[in-house]
Amino acid sequence: MKTIVYIIGLGHSGSTLLGNLLGSAQGAIHIGEIPSPISRKKVIQCKICNPGDCPIWDKLINKRYIFKLHKKYSRYIRLAKMSGFHKLSRLFTIQKNYVYEKIFLSIPDKQLIIDSSKSTYWASFNKKTRYVKKYIFLNRDIRAVLASYNRIYSDLYTGRMTIINRILNNIKRFHTSIKPNDKYILNYEELILSPENHLKKLCDFLDLKYSPEILEYYKNKFHLIGGNSGLIQQFLRYHQLDDTEFSKKYTDQLNYRYYEQNKIGLNLDERWKEELNPIDLEYIDKNIDFDLILNDSYTD
Ligand SMILES: [Zn+2]
Repeated sequence: MKTIVYIIGLGHSGSTLLGNLLGSAQGAIHIGEIPSPISRKKVIQCKICNPGDCPIWDKLINKRYIFKLHKKYSRYIRLAKMSGFHKLSRLFTIQKNYVYEKIFLSIPDKQLIIDSSKSTYWASFNKKTRYVKKYIFLNRDIRAVLASYNRIYSDLYTGRMTIINRILNNIKRFHTSIKPNDKYILNYEELILSPENHLKKLCDFLDLKYSPEILEYYKNKFHLIGGNSGLIQQFLRYHQLDDTEFSKKYTDQLNYRYYEQNKIGLNLDERWKEELNPIDLEYIDKNIDFDLILNDSYTD
């Protein structure tokens, strides 16, 4: 059965890493975040290949179709924001199979696509695709998430909390709409501290075969749209390839140095402990609605 796995969660939660780990399993492919350029009206471009060179995004995908998809998806988001996205998927019956279908047809040894978009809008927009759909709800310590946003946007005190609460609310509602057998809640910190254990369970959930090579995800070349550039940096470092051009294009300098200094592979990223001061932490505590955060005991 061909399957699409949607990773759902806040940005900066480790979804690229999770996608790369699972995408290293036999029969799986991680494709990144398709709606990211679509919603920003940017060209769909693989992060690791030069424009025109990507075997997936340049050779397989018809850019005109993506343009049409963009129009439909923007309309969907507008309506969803007005009337609640969970009511809308029936309205959008023209199938969004295209991108997934192209990938399945051209890479026949893959039965499972991992889409790390995280967006409940995107996952909901695609609910009618004909493939089996499974959902991993990825949680990360909210302080780590906020510190990561803050590193790039410096917006801890200017509206970020409202946005986060709204997304958390969407995630919780979306989680409720999914059947128990099709969903899985995972914590980033637990995954990093006990990767084998959690990846075995995830592989069971996704009908993938677990093998220890999954942990060596950094050896594999992923053709991703969007996502964390640090992992591409790890791939280039592992294969001793020059990353000068890449680092100029994609990685902000703080993150670049972090990934340059760290060992290649899994590292628990707790930079928030140095980056957030007691005033920041108190502000977060007061402004985040912690009841919205999914946890293991949250079954429906
Ligand atoms: Zn590529």
